[in-house]
Amino acid sequence: MGKAFDKALAGVVSSRSDFHVHTHYCDGKDSPRDMVLSGISKGLDTIGIVCHSYLPGEEDWCIRNHGYDAFISEISALKSEFSNRINILCGVEHDMFSKDVPSSSFDYVIGAVHMIETQAGLVSIDWKPEITSELCMRHFSGDWMALCGRYYETLSRVVEATDCDIIAHFDLISKFNQACGFFDESRAEYETAWKRCADALLGSGRRFEINTGAISRGCRTEQYPSNGMIGYLKRGGAGFVFSSDAHEVDAVAFGFDALPTLV
Ligand SMILES: [Zn+2]
Ligand SMILES: [Zn+2]
Repeated sequence: MGKAFDKALAGVVSSRSDFHVHTHYCDGKDSPRDMVLSGISKGLDTIGIVCHSYLPGEEDWCIRNHGYDAFISEISALKSEFSNRINILCGVEHDMFSKDVPSSSFDYVIGAVHMIETQAGLVSIDWKPEITSELCMRHFSGDWMALCGRYYETLSRVVEATDCDIIAHFDLISKFNQACGFFDESRAEYETAWKRCADALLGSGRRFEINTGAISRGCRTEQYPSNGMIGYLKRGGAGFVFSSDAHEVDAVAFGFDALPTLV
């Protein structure tokens, strides 16, 4: 964990800090500078600009191979330029299947699971509903609870795999559930799976993000994790940070006004 991240957390983690925005270095639409200017216009004290870690064959949404240095150096220049106006942090969203991520070069690491390992290789769970559905049908015999169980079992190992400071979008597996009704989130099996994962991660002492990315994209009306999950994590002593997971300027700090009541 970098000193700048420590310092940012020493202040109040509030709706004036957004720890997770993307840029055109990976699958974001806008430049780091435009994301910073958006953060300033929205009254943020701190903005954490991150890139998706490199994964071979996934360059359409991840940073390109050998792309880390240029990203870090551009964010570093922005830190100097805007030092009187906003605290800028440089982070990496480390997908747990990425190798050789230069974590110590970043202010902090967000650990994430975006894919499930299958006999046919890694398959995305959050790109398109039809891909998630196909993953379930082909590799889990249509058993959604089996797929959810695999997701949460994988996520329960994200801290040991990435040594992250922040755990990303805890219930990402349910991204398309509100629109598509893939499975019933009130089922006991689902609750058992996510609680087992939550318990394992709570033991790590790492923070969970409260991520509004699926709300800004119109996929869900609730942030990740769901309200019920946040309650459970809070009772378990979890710390949190706020994240928009913005991929364009308009989504920076999206929905943050409503978040402080949750934590
Ligand atoms: Zn993510
Ligand atoms: Zn992200």
